[in-house]
Amino acid sequence: MVTREEAENAVQTLLEYIEDDVSREGLQETSSRVINSWDEIFNGYHQSPAEVLDSTFNGEGYDGIVLLRDIEFHSTCEHHLQPFTGRAHVAYIPTDRIVGISKLARIVDLHARRLQNQERITKNVADDLETHLSPLGCAVIIEASHGCMQCRGVKKQNAIMTTSAMRGVFFDKAEARSELMQLIRD
Ligand SMILES: [Zn+2]
Repeated sequence: MVTREEAENAVQTLLEYIEDDVSREGLQETSSRVINSWDEIFNGYHQSPAEVLDSTFNGEGYDGIVLLRDIEFHSTCEHHLQPFTGRAHVAYIPTDRIVGISKLARIVDLHARRLQNQERITKNVADDLETHLSPLGCAVIIEASHGCMQCRGVKKQNAIMTTSAMRGVFFDKAEARSELMQLIRD
C-alpha cells in the first residue's frame, strides 16, 4: 500500500526530472495538487457496478430501445497517462426491469475513472449491463480523441477513435442495430 506522502514524493521526483529548479512558487504545492486531482480522476476504483446498477424498476412492458447518448467522459490512457475524452452512447432493450437513466452515465464514469484503454471501457460497460440487467440486448459505442495521439507521436488533432460492443439482439439482428444507429444520429 503506497501512502499519500510516498505518492507526493514520487511526483516531486518527476518534477525534478522535468525541471532543474523546482523551488519556484508555482511548483510549491504541485505534488499535492496532482495527487488530489488523481484521487478524483481515478475514483472509479472505489465503486462497484453492482452498486450502481442495483436499483431497478418495473419496466411495465416497455420493450423498445432505451438509449442515453452523448455521455461525455474523461479517462486516462494507461500507456502514456495522457487524457482521452469523448462521448459514449449506451443502449439496452429491457426484459422486465429498467434502470434509472443516470445510472448509465455513472457506469461509464466508473470505468472511465481508472487507468484505461477505450476498448476495455466499451467492453466492460456492455458486460455490466448484460450481467446486472439481463437485457434483450445492449450496445455501447464510444467516440474519443486521445491526448497521447494529439500532443505527441503522430500528432493528429482531429482523429476520433470509435469502438463498439453489440450484445444480444443488437448483435443478432441488423434491424435492431440500424434502429439504434438511427436514434444516435438523429
Ligand atoms: Zn496513450
